[in-house]
Amino acid sequence: PLVLGIETSCDETGIGIVRGTTLLSNTIASSMDEHARYGGVVPEIAARAHLDELVPAINAAVAEAGIRLSDLDAIAVTCGPGLSGALMVGVGAAKALAVALDKPIYAVNHLVGHVGADLLQGELRHGDTNTGDTAPLEYPTIALLVSGGHTSLLLVRDLVSDVELLGETIDDAAGEAFDKVARLLSLPYPGGPQIDRVALGGNPKAIRFPRGLSQPKDMAVHRYDFSFSGLKTSVARFVEQRQDAGEPVPIGDVAASFREAVVDILLTKALAACADYGVPRLLLGGGVIANKRLREVATQRTDAAGIVLRIPPLSLCTDNGAMIAALGAQLIMAGHEPSTLQFGADSTLPVGQIQV
Ligand code: ATP
Ligand code: MG
Ligand code: FE
Repeated sequence: PLVLGIETSCDETGIGIVRGTTLLSNTIASSMDEHARYGGVVPEIAARAHLDELVPAINAAVAEAGIRLSDLDAIAVTCGPGLSGALMVGVGAAKALAVALDKPIYAVNHLVGHVGADLLQGELRHGDTNTGDTAPLEYPTIALLVSGGHTSLLLVRDLVSDVELLGETIDDAAGEAFDKVARLLSLPYPGGPQIDRVALGGNPKAIRFPRGLSQPKDMAVHRYDFSFSGLKTSVARFVEQRQDAGEPVPIGDVAASFREAVVDILLTKALAACADYGVPRLLLGGGVIANKRLREVATQRTDAAGIVLRIPPLSLCTDNGAMIAALGAQLIMAGHEPSTLQFGADSTLPVGQIQV
């Protein structure tokens, strides 16, 4: 089926068009620059930017795919989780398109969409950062989704019918931690690429920052959950102590050691899930996957454990419409009924609810 996907859960206005699992276009407009001076995504600004960007993005995606809107078999749209106001813009646009074109609509879960990104093999073949493994995604798989808004560990038994949340962050998202620590080091937003840059000259073993929720007593309750606020506080305290003592802050060492702590805890928990559930497959997704050290250590540890690692190209890891279209196409192919037009935006939509 030919499906147009609309994604507006955060600061990316994403429009993607797929035919089954073939990617035809993936237009992304980001309001990231507008949030830079606030050090994080401002919901109101993101929502207004979606209003400006949506129609041009739809036109661009349709032109690039070489189709007409009337050719579409369905519209798919992210209805949650995410920022309410931002989601509402996409949901409104999707409903309007569906009514105007008289096409079915599929309201889908953003996080499950991130997993669906893996299906778009067309782009994977000439993708910039794939793992060289272009065989179709097999089930079950463990998925680690890490971005500015989420840090979740999923057990995916079937993309369209059985996705279970194993754990998630109990405070900051991993990308948010990168952004906050960058700010502590007076580096600009977004922090992830900046931390990567300055970490190049640093020693990852220089400072032993805490790995959240990794003590036995925490593991008993929060085996697959993450916490990054203690790590952030620990970095802040380290920086303050140096400043109070009138000593220079070793920015490279702090960045490298902080990054090492994040990467270590993310992968330790993801691999624990693979081992516990006997699942020899790990899929990564979300904007933080751009992190070089995370990719490196993920490759090393999965190799050592005999686990197949899958990393979609970055343009499909960050928020995008193509992954939403891909999930919609899967729902259609599995014979699922379209959504009724009654759905709204659900900022806290649970992972288990794949379609609304
Ligand atoms: P959502 O949470 O809805 O997926 P988002 O816009 O918050 O959306 P993305 O756009 O996928 O998330 O990713 C942005 C986040 O990824 C930012 O927090 C940014 O700091 C982080 N990031 C980007 N590049 C890197 C990197 N090289 N290392 C670590 N983090 C990175
Ligand atoms: Mg973003
Ligand atoms: Fe996302």
